[in-house]
Amino acid sequence: MNSASSPMRRNAPVFDVEAVRREFPILGTSVHGKPLVFLDSGASAQKPRAVIEAISRVYETGYANIHRGVYQLSQVATEAYEGARAKVQRFIGAASPGEIVFTKGTTEAINLVASSYGARFLKAGDEVVLSVLEHHANIVPWQLLRERLGIVIRVVPVDAGGAFRMDEYERLLNARTKFVAVTQTSNALGTMPPVAEIIRMAHGVGAAVLIDGAQGIVHEAVDVKALDCDFYVFSGHKLYGPGGIGVLYGKERLLEAMPPYQGGGDMILSVSFEKTEFAPPPARFEAGTPPIADAIGLGAAIDFLNGLDRLAIAAHEAALLDAASARLGAIPGLKIYGTARPKAAIVSFTLDGVHPHDIGTILDHEGIAVRVGHHCAQPVMERFGIPGTVRASFGLYNTIDEVEALARGLEKVREIFG
Ligand code: PMP
Repeated sequence: MNSASSPMRRNAPVFDVEAVRREFPILGTSVHGKPLVFLDSGASAQKPRAVIEAISRVYETGYANIHRGVYQLSQVATEAYEGARAKVQRFIGAASPGEIVFTKGTTEAINLVASSYGARFLKAGDEVVLSVLEHHANIVPWQLLRERLGIVIRVVPVDAGGAFRMDEYERLLNARTKFVAVTQTSNALGTMPPVAEIIRMAHGVGAAVLIDGAQGIVHEAVDVKALDCDFYVFSGHKLYGPGGIGVLYGKERLLEAMPPYQGGGDMILSVSFEKTEFAPPPARFEAGTPPIADAIGLGAAIDFLNGLDRLAIAAHEAALLDAASARLGAIPGLKIYGTARPKAAIVSFTLDGVHPHDIGTILDHEGIAVRVGHHCAQPVMERFGIPGTVRASFGLYNTIDEVEALARGLEKVREIFG
């Protein structure tokens, strides 16, 4: 890459989206003979060459199982895997690598916390506060825990614009509230609850807090120490990294006190049929052979993002959101759900008289990839009395031209449906 057009320059005055796009090979491909317009990064983001090459390099020259081998290749792989953990630690401002547990993704991380923290710290009658914005991944694990323990789930509603109702949240908090689990950014609407304030208020009644950062970490820098959340979870595949790898951040003293989530190799100090001693965190929560190359690939995705100016990315995404909100909002019969600010570059909408699936199919023929349906967030769809929406979710590589392509595609949908 030529340095004059490099997206890697720090503090570049203008975010060079064309240079960034060249780092993502898939963005140069076509769908149905049309250039790909990828507007589904909220579901899973595309990967830069640096991530693809890092994974290939592991398998070509640096792969072996970790933590076990005395031979050099195993030590190289172990160092790279643990190096990725240290990159995650620095990326989110955790106090030590021991606070970073690699999981399969956000879903597994939340299940781990519900199951393990729940077993150790929660009992029948304790209240867990969620919001109506939550992804199913931050609802169902708590329902499973309710079946096991008899905890009570309380739900914070949203207003007509999709904003988290702080007044209702305040009303729900009480001495029985033991845990609060909320999303940093709604994947279905894009709206962003004020998590710092939510955490502060939860701590005020002695409750621990998990922040679902699956969408949030993609759009803004995160500092878990400044936030003071007890747990923070995210997925590599939405952060321009590989699939199959995610992160659970937990405060050390909490992870220390939590029992294992799964048993197996690599999470023990010693095993006999009479008694097994567990390893300290994070190993305690990483039973079995982990996705080694994917963890290293996540480290490469973090390096890639660190090489960019994240404030410039945020400004670029804000411009995309403003352009999409204005352009789509002007299409007759189009209704946007989730208008409250702040919000991430996600636009969820319906078009009068046209089923979201038909819209998605017609757009696909224009080369435009959007998500349609309930977005694994049925409660918030129900809140607005709709079965689903069309969702355009933007990544750092999207352009204003692509917003225009989406709008033209939607105008075509309107013509077809008359
Ligand atoms: N929470 C949110 C807010 C999400 O957007 C998603 C993914 N759509 C998840 C949780 C689940 O993430 P994963 O499927 O990577 O485990």
